[in-house]
Amino acid sequence: MDNNWIENQIRPIAIGRKTANAVLNVAFGEPTMAVDTHIFRVGNRTGLAPGKTPSEAEMQLMTHVPPAYLADAHHWLILLGRFVCQARKPQCLRCGVAQFCDFKEKTPAP
Ligand code: SF4
Repeated sequence: MDNNWIENQIRPIAIGRKTANAVLNVAFGEPTMAVDTHIFRVGNRTGLAPGKTPSEAEMQLMTHVPPAYLADAHHWLILLGRFVCQARKPQCLRCGVAQFCDFKEKTPAP
């Protein structure tokens, strides 16, 4: 499914891009990236998907995530952001991807 499909088919029924991507991914198994607040934060902190807007982050993720992982990646990134890389205090000491993360202010050891 090409990127224009969302613009042409989903926009006219007035749902947002994140919701459209989530429906396409969960209901139809399409390799889309529904960028919510968690994915947006994780993408920018880690350097995986820097962007000023969710759409920019989505395009970065679609480029950087290997195709074999795209269908599940947004679930993994949401879980990382919700339970480990939290907004106020990321849990860097117990983070499984810390060695790959560019975030300079990693949580210090207690
Ligand atoms: S190392 Fe820290 S900042 Fe980087 S992804 Fe993990 S929790 Fe987030």
